[in-house]
Amino acid sequence: MPDVDVAILGGGCAGLSVAARLARSRVSFRVVEPRERYSDDRAWSFWRTAPDPFEECVRASWSGWTVEGPRALVRRSSRCMLYQTVPAGAFYARAEDLIDDAPGGSIVRGTSATGVAPAAGGAVRVDTSDGSFTARHVLDGRPPARRPSYGQFFLGHEVATAEAIFDPCTVPLMHFRRGYSAGVDFLYILPFARDRALVEVTSFAPARPSREVFAAWLADEIAALGIRSHDVLREEAGALPMEVGYAETPAAGVTRIGLGGGAARPSTGYAFQRIQAQADALAAALASGCAPRLPAERPMTRFMDRVFLQVLATAPERGPALFESLFRNAPPERLERFLSGSTRAADRLSVMAALPPLPFLRAAARPA
Ligand SMILES: Cc1cc2nc3c(=O)[nH]c(=O)nc-3n(C[C@H](O)[C@H](O)[C@H](O)COP(=O)(O)OP(=O)(O)OC[C@H]3O[C@@H](n4cnc5c(N)ncnc54)[C@H](O)[C@@H]3O)c2cc1C
Repeated sequence: MPDVDVAILGGGCAGLSVAARLARSRVSFRVVEPRERYSDDRAWSFWRTAPDPFEECVRASWSGWTVEGPRALVRRSSRCMLYQTVPAGAFYARAEDLIDDAPGGSIVRGTSATGVAPAAGGAVRVDTSDGSFTARHVLDGRPPARRPSYGQFFLGHEVATAEAIFDPCTVPLMHFRRGYSAGVDFLYILPFARDRALVEVTSFAPARPSREVFAAWLADEIAALGIRSHDVLREEAGALPMEVGYAETPAAGVTRIGLGGGAARPSTGYAFQRIQAQADALAAALASGCAPRLPAERPMTRFMDRVFLQVLATAPERGPALFESLFRNAPPERLERFLSGSTRAADRLSVMAALPPLPFLRAAARPA
């Protein structure tokens, strides 16, 4: 008999999302995580489209957001689909509480997975820096090793300002800028209060702009807020894959999850909602005694992501106008659902209808 039903390599967003669900089942599991202790190292923002075990961790919710393109400022709002932020610190604490209460679940901190190999009876042996154990199934949530061909890159500071300058009801989601990367550049602000916000500079680009470029751009954006002084409370930076089919091939008996399992939406880099949907599917399969399987990607969604990325990659100067058109023309909530990972045909059709057809027809005609 294997030591546990499921080994989860990596107690990050994806690994803990599955563990939080398995904690309520009869499935035994062990999470292997190198960090000795967690810190509030990031915040996940997303349009809530479904419940998840972390709803009590939501720090802020917004019903309005803006996109500023070359022609105008587009305002969108929704009463039923809120844009929300979950801070990582609260997320990790909630997951640890759920795992602590799970009779067959545990998390081993300060330990790295070093390899997996087939074991007797169809099980898998997991080698770690602290010895080996066997599992019936392995979910590998370690960070991906492969550099994507296109990505979302960002640097942000959560600031407390001397003056009350932010509008806490509306998220400036994409306010486009020019000239910082070889791709599409924009400012993103999460206003937590009138005097507190995460201010982030972001590029959708083939390569990450240098730290110096990002730091100078961020400093300029904060200076442009017109404040006398501010304190930096937290910094976050990231590089997320935006590539269709970006998923690493796992070893036999292993399922790749999280970013390495292709969880980031190729056309946006958003991953939190898709990680939650993956966790629902994986935990349901495991709880019913089946092998874990990730939900299949719809061919039409892959095609749309591929065409959209091709337009961004080959004609980045069109990006701001395209996003502006999307947010101006797509019916309420359909675009936001699509960007969050919706596979509904009606959402896809609305998004297609909201875009100018010519650049997309050209991109679609190119070979994949
Ligand atoms: C700063 C930041 C902000 C983000 N904000 C958003 C957002 O607002 N909205 C959104 O949708 N997405 C966001 N993302 C993207 C995505 O949701 C996150 O990257 C998310 O954490 C990915 O989950 P993951 O489980 O794949 O990776 P991670 O959460 O990074 O987890 C990987 C885990 O593997 C562990 N690990 C590493 N090596 C080993 C090893 N040898 N053995 C075992 N474990 C190992 C790590 O310690 C870590 O815990 C953000 C990403 C970053 C970096």
